[in-house]
Amino acid sequence: MAKKVIFIGGGASNLIASILLKKKYPFLDVLLIEKNSQLGRKLKATGSGRCNIAPISDDISLFYNQQFVKDTIGEIPVKNQLEVLKTLGIVTKEIKGVGYYPISESASNVVNLLQNQLDTLGIRYLLNTKVIDYSIKDKYIKLDNNDILSFDYLIFGIGGSSYSSLGGEDTLSNVFKSHGYKFNPQTPVLTPIKVKENVHRLFGIRLECQVTLRENNKFVYQEKGEAQFRKDGLSGIVILNISRFIDENKKYVLEINPFIGKTHNLSKEQLKELYRYNKNFLLSILPTSLVEYGLSRLDINKDDIKENQLDIIYDYFSKITFNVSKLFPLEYATVSRGGIDVNQIKDTFESKIEDNVYFLGEIIDVDGPCGGYSLRFAISSSIIFADKFTL
Ligand SMILES: Cc1cc2nc3c(=O)[nH]c(=O)nc-3n(C[C@H](O)[C@H](O)[C@H](O)COP(=O)(O)OP(=O)(O)OC[C@H]3O[C@@H](n4cnc5c(N)ncnc54)[C@H](O)[C@@H]3O)c2cc1C
Repeated sequence: MAKKVIFIGGGASNLIASILLKKKYPFLDVLLIEKNSQLGRKLKATGSGRCNIAPISDDISLFYNQQFVKDTIGEIPVKNQLEVLKTLGIVTKEIKGVGYYPISESASNVVNLLQNQLDTLGIRYLLNTKVIDYSIKDKYIKLDNNDILSFDYLIFGIGGSSYSSLGGEDTLSNVFKSHGYKFNPQTPVLTPIKVKENVHRLFGIRLECQVTLRENNKFVYQEKGEAQFRKDGLSGIVILNISRFIDENKKYVLEINPFIGKTHNLSKEQLKELYRYNKNFLLSILPTSLVEYGLSRLDINKDDIKENQLDIIYDYFSKITFNVSKLFPLEYATVSRGGIDVNQIKDTFESKIEDNVYFLGEIIDVDGPCGGYSLRFAISSSIIFADKFTL
């Protein structure tokens, strides 16, 4: 009888892993089980619907738990990942300085192409079906409709618990714990940051700037990019990346410097020169509401800026400071940190605790910055799994 492989979760990692495994061993009986009413719901939302499928850089050091990432997917450069995707019908292009995307720039098309591969290869899938328990001794899984299914191999690609509106949910952490796993608490990363100051009037501003994170005056992290003001905090890729460095038990400040960005770098002297041409020079660099916000804090009349106030203005605006109050919760986070502890997973992605059990993608306690790193880990873990899997 054909061996039964059950993939739990129908997201990025398991879709790709099940296809690659079935291509390698066509005689296997492969079943995929997804609790949502559709496959790849989160994948369809990636890159604002355009699917940033891989980063430009092979740099592993940007990942949380980087040693595990190096020991597992480190041997697959991004280019190889893209080659494998091509064999599944997904051709990609580089958007300079941003990352790799499917040429169609359609995440939905990526899911459709993968679903088409499932059908072509005869991989069965159940939708609207949640796995709620499993037994290694008796080799069965239990579904939320009380059905019991037997298996020979079990692959968990159940993702993280962020973005509940797309189905992100902690479904099995207690089950894993009862099986003896160390399951690290899932917390939000790549998430907006709430600040203590009232920034309501800055709502909607998008600012190309340099953002520095400090804890007790100590430098923690710095990045250039676009910050976006929300009613009660900040968002935008640069802010999401900074959120990965915040420990909610500590106190942090964000320093925003709009005089420096990816596209510009203005010195104090250049500002003084601009002042000589036009006393409202700040308006050529900053949105009006931010100019008003800053000058009101400095008690300077925006229509009557004096030359001797330029140093104070420069010092304030090159370091607009916001006190971090907290991170936005999991519902808003692009990914979650936490999950199955990396020390319990072999470089084949098999469990060190239970035979014939594997973990792939975001359920493992690994995360990376924005820019395709999450899919890079999910997809590369699937490629390595299928490559190293033996019967
Ligand atoms: C809005 C948004 C945009 C993003 N954009 C990008 C991007 O551009 N680039 C990038 O690299 N990453 C991006 N990410 C992150 C990326 O989507 C995830 O890291 C990636 O999808 C993880 O793949 P996965 O297969 O591990 O998990 P998922 O894709 O989350 O799939 C896991 C699946 O398992 C199912 N499941 C869970 N528990 C059970 C159970 N008990 N029984 C049955 N099914 C279950 C879930 O419903 C889910 O469909 C984005 C995330 C979000 C939310």
